[in-house]
Amino acid sequence: MTIYAATVVDTPGDPFTGDPAAALTEDGALLVRDGVIRARGSLAEVTAAHPGEAVTRLDGGLLLPGFVDTHVHFPQIRAIGGLGLPLLDWLERYALPEECKLADRAYARAVAREFTDGLVASGTTSALVFGSHFAPAMDELFTAAGQRGLNITSGLVLSDRKLPPDLLHSPETALADSADLILRWHDRGRLRYAVTPRFSLSTSDEMLDACAQLLGKGVWFTSHINENLAEVATVAGLFPGARHYLDTYCRHGLVTPRSVFAHNVHPGDAELALLAEHGASVAHCPTSNSALGSGLFPLRRHVEHGIGVALGSDVGAGTGLFLPKEALQAYFVQQLLGPAGLSLTPAHLLYLATRAGARALGLGDRVGDLAVGKDFDAVWLRPADGSTLAVNLRHARDTSDALARIFALATPADVAGVWIRGERAAGAGPAGAEHAGAEPARAEHAGAEA
Ligand SMILES: [Zn+2]
Repeated sequence: MTIYAATVVDTPGDPFTGDPAAALTEDGALLVRDGVIRARGSLAEVTAAHPGEAVTRLDGGLLLPGFVDTHVHFPQIRAIGGLGLPLLDWLERYALPEECKLADRAYARAVAREFTDGLVASGTTSALVFGSHFAPAMDELFTAAGQRGLNITSGLVLSDRKLPPDLLHSPETALADSADLILRWHDRGRLRYAVTPRFSLSTSDEMLDACAQLLGKGVWFTSHINENLAEVATVAGLFPGARHYLDTYCRHGLVTPRSVFAHNVHPGDAELALLAEHGASVAHCPTSNSALGSGLFPLRRHVEHGIGVALGSDVGAGTGLFLPKEALQAYFVQQLLGPAGLSLTPAHLLYLATRAGARALGLGDRVGDLAVGKDFDAVWLRPADGSTLAVNLRHARDTSDALARIFALATPADVAGVWIRGERAAGAGPAGAEHAGAEPARAEHAGAEA
């Protein structure tokens, strides 16, 4: 057992349905045994109830729940930064040529390691990962994720038209390859499977039918929707009988409480009503939407329909794996929408980066906050002394204000430690900032090693 003494901050409440300030909680200590949080309270309370237990002091900064990324393409980790193009041109120029390279298993293995290491270094401990079009590359991703203990839901990406030929399956091979992967990886430790048609633009009705057959195996579902106006128009032309983009999935039974749709920047009200009715969630990827010029996400309309929204880094089209940056960009997008936007508080931003994602992925009873009974998946954001973030944290008025400064200023360099089910996964910890025992901490160069 270990007692962690830290400024523990999380959002067990939902700031979108109640008072945002009430969604935020703060404590001074957690007791962790076998990877699970067993007690929480002030340091005095926890040490009094568990005398003699070792205390690990995490002085300075904030200890937050591990981040939850609900949309991120692992094959694109080497293809970030292709600026200046809209979605369909960007796919053709940057993303798809890189994704073709994952046919080479050794290449895929290296990419899977870089990707999963990148998640950990960014404080992301759970993710819905958009996979590769190649089954052996999926084995590499699941293997790398399992080795790191990450909570990963992912699956083979399926398409049967309009992409480079190397990336296509027939519905028959899609069924066989996916069924094989499900058998080997679904519900293995913290790994789960998600049926993943790339988007209905590149999948025929026959392929979407195959996806529906696979969903019968109790797995998850993810795809893209309503990202860009040219894409929406193309899909409408390919499915003349569909009522709208969501209907291309819905009429195959693919909109369920286990479905997560990325983007939804341009939804109609009928689509929002249908998402709510079926309990599906939406992954909002604000840096990607901004970089591709896709549009400004209508968060208020989603919230008013009661749809669960969480954050995704998207990665190739986005700007990296660090979820607080996505939260900050989500805040910017809502500000830019003026009266149509939803002004976000620091509690909203933390919720979007943690508990909202856990709920969207059906993991709300296991991760996403630091309540007793949850897995100890956590990230310690602790800036180097003298950094602008450290200066700002020193002048924060209260917890909410400290969080605001974290979201405005933090980078992956401020990740001083990551725990995955109680195991220290990243950040050796700056000398003096973290140590066992009760002596006061020195905190020189805190965070510099992360
Ligand atoms: Zn995507």
